[in-house]
Amino acid sequence: MMAEMPNYRPETLAVRAGQERSQFGEHSEALYLTSSFVFKSAAQAAKRFSGEEEGNVYARFSNPTVTMFEERLAALEGAEDCVATASGMSAIMAAVLAHLKQGDHIVASNSLFGATVQLFNNILSRTGITTTFVSHTDPAAWEAAIRPETKLFFLETPSNPLTEIADIRRLVEIAHAKGILVAVDNCFCTPILQRPLDLGADLVIHSATKFLDGQGRVLGGAVCGARKLTEEVFKYLRTAGPTLSAFNAWVLLKGLETLKLRVEAQSANAAQLASWLEAHPKVARVFYPGLPSHPQHELAKTQQKSGGAIVAFEVKGSREQAWTVVDNCRLLSITANLGDTKTTITHPASTTHGRISPEARAAAGINEGLLRIAVGLEAVEDLQADLERGLSQI
Ligand SMILES: *Cc1c(COP(=O)(O)O)cnc(C)c1O
Repeated sequence: MMAEMPNYRPETLAVRAGQERSQFGEHSEALYLTSSFVFKSAAQAAKRFSGEEEGNVYARFSNPTVTMFEERLAALEGAEDCVATASGMSAIMAAVLAHLKQGDHIVASNSLFGATVQLFNNILSRTGITTTFVSHTDPAAWEAAIRPETKLFFLETPSNPLTEIADIRRLVEIAHAKGILVAVDNCFCTPILQRPLDLGADLVIHSATKFLDGQGRVLGGAVCGARKLTEEVFKYLRTAGPTLSAFNAWVLLKGLETLKLRVEAQSANAAQLASWLEAHPKVARVFYPGLPSHPQHELAKTQQKSGGAIVAFEVKGSREQAWTVVDNCRLLSITANLGDTKTTITHPASTTHGRISPEARAAAGINEGLLRIAVGLEAVEDLQADLERGLSQI
């Protein structure tokens, strides 16, 4: 499918890439709810199982609706291939276990999504894969952490929740000089704002649960990259089993169609909200890559198209004051999800990052007064009024 649409722009790829019509000529993508596929003969069954003939066998391996989603996302990321997974976490698990083995080592950012830190520290460590966490923003620290057994750099930019920017080009340079793979969790930007493969990264990882769905309906994940790398992810997946369901793939295909419109509109709202918060007397600090006050504002401009839809800010005070803002919201949803058309608000220190030790949290700069907003499509004025109710009580 990619070969047939090499020069189309993202808007076009988002609605067209990957579609395979059946004999019925359906206009919208079909949802194939079937766990297995029927063969014409014993000989065909044998060929399909051995891989001699391409085609579907069993939905743990492939499903036409899932394939359409994979091809559409690959087109948007500029990737040769994409493998869909049941969730963002299973995408990370699959990417790591497909390429690393016992004794291997990961260098990762110290400001990753909370569950990713848990996965590396508490689960992958049991398989003998160890991780060193280093400063997200200091390439020299990544270089210094490399060991002979280092196989992977893992990062997420902008980071969650502080929206720190890692220099993808520089980290790729350091890693590739030593034959190390670079995986970027592109959840916050989506391919609409940032395409890590264009900057030299080897693998792009998604929690499709976030912006790709964008309407808070389903879980999903994906790993994109060169086929020689995704093939290994596919082999892991077809055996270990955390594949994306056909229904979720169908929802996500429809989500991708409006991805550009949503991400751009949500980012524009976020930029407005960030400026308003920065000028607010009850706000100590705002973290938003689109603001000139952001420490990596200039770097952000070289690798992402806008500041994105996630804004973090510290209220003047601590947990009590932060919770006052949260508890006075009537419009903003109190939920940890992000990337939704409905704006959400989270207190990271007591939720998404609550299982991390207080020392590690402090080291990552996540203090008790911090709040994270994932901006949706509501009118900015209505969001401001909702936040003002709590802020005025601090
Ligand atoms: C949510 C999230 C994940 C995990 O995705 P799930 O779909 O919830 O498993 C991974 N990385 C980032 C940056 C996320 O925000």
